[in-house]
Amino acid sequence: MENFIEEVVLSNEEIVRICEKIGKQITEDYQNKNPLLVGLLKGSVPFMAELMKHIKCDMEIDFMEVSSYAGVNSTGAVTILKDVKADIRGRDIILVEDIVDTGLTIQEVINFLGSRGARSIEIATLLDKPAGRTVKCQIPKYIGLEIEPKFVVGFGLDYNQKYRNLPYVGVLKRWVYEK
Ligand code: 5GP
Repeated sequence: MENFIEEVVLSNEEIVRICEKIGKQITEDYQNKNPLLVGLLKGSVPFMAELMKHIKCDMEIDFMEVSSYAGVNSTGAVTILKDVKADIRGRDIILVEDIVDTGLTIQEVINFLGSRGARSIEIATLLDKPAGRTVKCQIPKYIGLEIEPKFVVGFGLDYNQKYRNLPYVGVLKRWVYEK
């Protein structure tokens, strides 16, 4: 384990098992619906890549980029940096997130996509920090793991753009961001 990691929250093997399970559920729930998986850049990329391998019905992918975090704190304001390319009218959307914390990002994106006429919107998130909620947001249908309100990195999750390449998710030691 890297010296800046306090504890491993999800090993790579556990992440693969989670993706197999969620992929199976999505396959059953979306037969003949051709869902559009919308990944939120950049953190969702590894999760999206693993998850889609386990979805066995027709599906498409697209990406959006929004920003709300600076360092380890949410800024409380969501800006859309990149929109989806696909026409989402009448589509069944699955928003793919790395982690839901305050709920702000996911709710803003749901409002944005909902106003464009999506038929349904569900959330698939690798991690959920329910204790962090500050806004009322849609409950994620597919959750990999609920965790304590600690700051985690790896498997897409960053600290100031670093550590996304770790193959597992771990709690970042405080000295890394308190120095
Ligand atoms: P929310 O808007 O729900 O507060 O936060 C969602 C976004 O905040 C996530 O997509 C992620 O980018 C960032 N985030 C929230 N908690 C963590 C965390 O523990 N670690 C990292 N690296 N990012 C987080």
